[in-house]
Amino acid sequence: MRQAGVIVPAGHESPFGNHWSPVTAHCIAMRIGQGYDAHRFAEGRPLVLGGVQIPHGLGLAAHSDGDVLVHALCDALLGAAGLGDIGRHFPDSSVEFAGIDSRILLRRVVAHLEENAMRVVNADLTVVAQAPKLALHIQGMREVLASDLQVEPSRVNIKATTTEGMGFAGRGEGIAAYAVALLED
Ligand code: MG
Repeated sequence: MRQAGVIVPAGHESPFGNHWSPVTAHCIAMRIGQGYDAHRFAEGRPLVLGGVQIPHGLGLAAHSDGDVLVHALCDALLGAAGLGDIGRHFPDSSVEFAGIDSRILLRRVVAHLEENAMRVVNADLTVVAQAPKLALHIQGMREVLASDLQVEPSRVNIKATTTEGMGFAGRGEGIAAYAVALLED
């Protein structure tokens, strides 16, 4: 039969549209994952979000560089791949990961995806912070993360929101991040 203009072998028709790839000649499976992380503010540390250093009086306390957005993204990717979570792959009890640039962790996660014949379709991320304002840094973060994910920046969306003063983020105690990622294999 034909679905979306492509000949689809019998038995591979999808009720959700055409998931048959004429390029790789196999049926593409889509896998979704979500991630969440939160870190508290600490003095004397740089603030790094989405791989970008952001001018602010406080950074985030962590075993690594505290990039809460990258950590949420790693968990979304690992979740979609069925590969556990960031703590399992990069335990915070290991000196190997002390102060590590979280982009290194992200690139290792992407390498794990490649080993399992999976690639990123897109990711949608939300940073929850009362301060600082992040609008001017969003595009830079997209480009950095897209580079590590080996996709176009248009496939990485980043949103920032406050909680209007409510909760730990609203009180300025820390920053939280949510991530959703879609993979295909
Ligand atoms: Mg973390």
